Amino acid sequence: MTASSLDEAPEFDGSALDALRQPLESGEMVVTRSVFSVTFPARFHLVLAMNPCPCGRGGDVGRQSAAPLCVCTPQQRRRYLSRISGPLLDRVDLRVTLVRPTLADLEFGASDAEPTSVVALRVREARDRAARRYAGTPWRVNADVPGPVVRRQFGLDRDSAEPLDAALLSGLVSARGADRIVRVAWTVADLAGRDRPTRFDVASALQHRDSGTAWAA
Ligand SMILES: [Zn+2]
Repeated sequence: MTASSLDEAPEFDGSALDALRQPLESGEMVVTRSVFSVTFPARFHLVLAMNPCPCGRGGDVGRQSAAPLCVCTPQQRRRYLSRISGPLLDRVDLRVTLVRPTLADLEFGASDAEPTSVVALRVREARDRAARRYAGTPWRVNADVPGPVVRRQFGLDRDSAEPLDAALLSGLVSARGADRIVRVAWTVADLAGRDRPTRFDVASALQHRDSGTAWAA
């Protein structure tokens, strides 16, 4: 699987961004012409990066910073954020808000960070755990498993499902989004070395989906 990253994603043409929806969902790209149709494999990691607003300082509100605060109007901010359509955003599993680092963060912040080698080992163990669970199936990782199979064979138990049911009932999550949250919850459980997702794993998956859009309200 390859990774693609689009920096300043709202600056891309809207129709080009929305063309990513099909391969993100199915892992295939279908090109149709008048007399033929060809299907190409297109499973990839997509990283979309964007500022919180056109001037790029919207996330600095409340921060101690020498930089001037955001000068965008609410309409400018809404127009900018709306360039990433809801259906495309619905297919983004992990949304992370990055806060501009201070000088102290840059000088001292990374000293207690986990080494990449430790993180890589944890990821490898999580992927091995998922691969053992999917042995004998066409799938290797949680993201591969189709939605109906997720619901039928890898659904959540009643207690674990509670945070997700509440989000569905309140309209915060779509049916497609719910499948994706369950897949992420399995990954959270795999990373923690658990056999099944707990309600905390589901809450964590929900939080990862929400945290990047808090400023968009
Ligand atoms: Zn701004």
